[in-house]
Amino acid sequence: MRRMSRVVAALVGMVSIASCRSAAPAVSTAPVPSTARAVYEGTVAAFPESGTVQAAWTIRMARRPGADSLVFLLNRGVTISSLSGRDVQRYETSRARDLTRLAVHLAPRAGAAEAEFRLEYAGRLQFSEDRINGLAPEWVELGLDSFWFPVVADFSHDVQGRVRLVLPPGYRAISSGSQSMRGDTLEIVNARALPDFAFAASRALRTTAQGRARTHDAGASPDLIARMLASAARCSDHLNARYGARDPIPTADLVVAPRSGPGYARQRYVVISVGDGAKSNLPADPAGLTHFVCHEFSHYWSVGAKPSGPDNWLNEGFAEFVAGRAVRAIHGEEAWAGILGTWQKGAVGQGPVWTASSTARPPANVSYRKAPALLAELEARVGSERMDALLVRFMTEPLRTTPVVLGMIDEVVEPEHGAWFRAELAR
Ligand SMILES: [Zn+2]
Repeated sequence: MRRMSRVVAALVGMVSIASCRSAAPAVSTAPVPSTARAVYEGTVAAFPESGTVQAAWTIRMARRPGADSLVFLLNRGVTISSLSGRDVQRYETSRARDLTRLAVHLAPRAGAAEAEFRLEYAGRLQFSEDRINGLAPEWVELGLDSFWFPVVADFSHDVQGRVRLVLPPGYRAISSGSQSMRGDTLEIVNARALPDFAFAASRALRTTAQGRARTHDAGASPDLIARMLASAARCSDHLNARYGARDPIPTADLVVAPRSGPGYARQRYVVISVGDGAKSNLPADPAGLTHFVCHEFSHYWSVGAKPSGPDNWLNEGFAEFVAGRAVRAIHGEEAWAGILGTWQKGAVGQGPVWTASSTARPPANVSYRKAPALLAELEARVGSERMDALLVRFMTEPLRTTPVVLGMIDEVVEPEHGAWFRAELAR
């Protein structure tokens, strides 16, 4: 994952969100750390023929002391028909970049810790040019990037609860969270911390299961599916053996999206774009595909640093480094040398990865190239055994700020190497 979708990228300056892009194609989004949660209960009818939705949501979230409004972002193509709730005084909408900004003003109420309101809207969803989301007869893909559900504008809220999604007859769907399909209704339930309700659907959706992975495609070549399943098996075996003792990655659902643009990961739900038409944008070589899939799978553990801030290099740098090491273990030194070369080349001329005074999310070349290049150099200094120990701690312990991770590194490696790494991050 490397690049953010355009809408999200435009917003990241003011808020949070991780989306990223790996070796060749896709991008991924790291779940937001669970600082706060919004609990959703929704029913949404989606009409691929017309590209429209009709939605009703009840949303419950904590009120911050003194705060008299809640702010959401919503797809600009829909029109709100109703918004009501016990504490709602009024609401207003405005345009924020390519989105609708919805401000819900609340009546002051002593002792009210929670606000709850009901929102109804309908309209034709508008999508960004990167095509990460869409609502068309042949392929439906909705998630955070299209703001098809009301997203809390500070991007620091986990999305919990459930949505019942009504699709036209004949559509099959696959979603993040836990899902059940009954007739034409898909129910998505988010029990774990996730940044959105994400799903893909098509009349042609075909599921292929093998070992601990499933692919879901709409007409991809059997060869591509076989290669993806092989990579998925290799990656989950490799990563679970190292980091999955307590919390192994469950059966992974690889959604093979017939489009260009970025991909993303939501724990076991991983979307990989393969391009449209004859041209695939997936790496043709097995090592490249392993690198790509392992990066996405690594986010099952390498996640939780605030994605909009200076610590995002932890999410991406470690996922990338772990994926590179997986390629080394699976495909050998030559493949590893190629990846290392890419990191080193991308690191040239880049600024610091992190300093104590950093406030911004690092650029992609820093998080995805310079950070793993430095981790590789640290491994060359301390040896693979120490690096294994360090990575197990990062991947399995709740270490999600740079100072805490540097403290852990100081415990695992000799003091001079810890000091070297700290200095290199700031250089
Ligand atoms: Zn990533």
